[in-house]
Amino acid sequence: MTTWQDMERKYYMFVVRRQPVVIVRGQGTRVWDENAKEYLDFTAGWAVNCLGHCHPAVVDAIRSQAATLLQTSNQFYTIPQLQLAQALVDNSCLDRAFFSNSGAEANEGAVKLARKYGKLHRNGAYEVITAMNSFHGRTLAMVAATGQPHYQENWKPLAEGFVNVEYSDLEAVKRATTAKTCAVMVEPVQGEGGVIIPQEGYLKALRDWCDQNNLLLIFDEVQTGVGRLGTLWGYQSFGVEPDVMTLAKGMGGGVPIGAFLAKERCAVLEPGDHGSTFGGNPLTTAAANATVRYVIEHDIPARAKDMGDYLRRGLEALQAKHSFISQVRGMGLLVALQFNSEVSGKVVAACNEEGLLLNAVRPNAIRFMPPLTISRQEIDEGLERLERGMLKAVA
Ligand SMILES: *Cc1c(COP(=O)(O)O)cnc(C)c1O
Repeated sequence: MTTWQDMERKYYMFVVRRQPVVIVRGQGTRVWDENAKEYLDFTAGWAVNCLGHCHPAVVDAIRSQAATLLQTSNQFYTIPQLQLAQALVDNSCLDRAFFSNSGAEANEGAVKLARKYGKLHRNGAYEVITAMNSFHGRTLAMVAATGQPHYQENWKPLAEGFVNVEYSDLEAVKRATTAKTCAVMVEPVQGEGGVIIPQEGYLKALRDWCDQNNLLLIFDEVQTGVGRLGTLWGYQSFGVEPDVMTLAKGMGGGVPIGAFLAKERCAVLEPGDHGSTFGGNPLTTAAANATVRYVIEHDIPARAKDMGDYLRRGLEALQAKHSFISQVRGMGLLVALQFNSEVSGKVVAACNEEGLLLNAVRPNAIRFMPPLTISRQEIDEGLERLERGMLKAVA
């Protein structure tokens, strides 16, 4: 009998080594595989399902929009797009939004905006300073922005106009700033890089440097936005406002959508400058509008903060018990557990068997990014499965 794994090997591009789990259904924090085995999902579709799997607010919005209007061209006004833009703008420090289909595309748009700003207001400057160990997406320009050699090696020559410098190091940004620089783009907390929180004061100092030099400060909040860090936007956790913010992942509650938002003074795009066939269509914006409004109305960020604290306390208790754990770090429900050896692949595999889905974010660290709606009880249950999995893997 051919299995789904066989079909994948035969028909699909070999771009990822998958866990041997075929997920067929999800509800809240849980998913089920083809054999009806149940798992706690602490990956949440890569920090996407912020309200859990198949949340009624999201499902209802998709269902009703699907039966009403799926797609128009952007020559016309559509209502969910405007409602979503309003929800984002009225609840953030930014003034205007544009919708894309993914995080990488949102960042591409933000960089285009920054280059236009440089052309108009900084003598044609076009270079964007980004951080080492960052992640900004997989398009050709974003692999140049992403300061990780293994994401760049095969795609040379890299797109011009990006300078990668050490993260959390203001002096490195200062040294890299030239007449050609138009913007600095960073994640408020590096997600794919292993849940790296910057030094105290770094983002604030970046803000000041950008103000002094007429550079745009772009926060890539594709992973940190929409409540993940325990505040609606990651920048609020640091008290620093960006000029441009990009979003995706959690924003659609599970549908593919991204956005970039800008302050009025740098919203320099004009008709013809940018666009997308699917970006901002009625279906995805209706789902995102329902998601974002639910997150705000039910103060989901506060819940993420509480549950994140609870999860970290539980992980710290495990650390006190087991010497193979070297560190617990994170903010809100973006958390990593570091081991003192490169066992994360084995731990993730063993936890799968125990019914817990996790991400091996580094060879020596695993990442927790469960739905923001997770309960204490689910965290307790997850920690039990984690401990069993770790003991199996490390033994
Ligand atoms: C996931 C991610 C991206 C890329 O988003 P895609 O939707 O996969 O293109 C960009 N930036 C950050 C910070 C991310 O976590």
